[in-house]
Amino acid sequence: MAFIDEIESINSELVAKCFQCQRCSCGCPIVDEMDYAPHQIMRMILLDQRDKVLDSNTIWLCVSCETCSTRCPNDIDIAGVMDACRQIAIEEGRKPAEERIYKFYNTFLKRVEAGGRINEPMLVAMFKLATKDFFSDMRLGMKMGLKGKLKLLSPKVKDRAAIKRMFAQTLHKK
Ligand code: SF4
Ligand code: SF4
Repeated sequence: MAFIDEIESINSELVAKCFQCQRCSCGCPIVDEMDYAPHQIMRMILLDQRDKVLDSNTIWLCVSCETCSTRCPNDIDIAGVMDACRQIAIEEGRKPAEERIYKFYNTFLKRVEAGGRINEPMLVAMFKLATKDFFSDMRLGMKMGLKGKLKLLSPKVKDRAAIKRMFAQTLHKK
């Protein structure tokens, strides 16, 4: 299957309509850090350059702000395309170009699945364990704690079974 068909089977994103106007890349807040700008990713998908796209840091640095999707004259959901690329890369067991970002997503989802909501100190602790980076932002963490920005208790979730069902139907479906 061509790469574009794989992407469109996940998100139906009309990538083939891209005419390289670059409006997406001009609005992207992260573009300077990316291996390839969003319009380049669109082109590479059309050219079937699967490995280059899936191994790039672009798909991991994208913060899903949707600025690109809003600016696209062809209504291509570029943020959705980045999501689809991440999904394919994970399913294939590729080593993510930005491992810390992947670990953060993973930890975040595990916490939501376990508790229905995020408990920030627990999220930080689990992320630190996953990355084995315990001290790099300790001062910032202490400042946030002193200003009450890290909530120790999170509100209870009424229907945790519904959250479990949601994960079973999406993340763990096979
Ligand atoms: S804004 Fe849309 S049409 Fe223009 S380059 Fe980006 S994806 Fe392609
Ligand atoms: S959704 Fe991703 S690619 Fe699009 S503008 Fe935001 S960070 Fe850039």
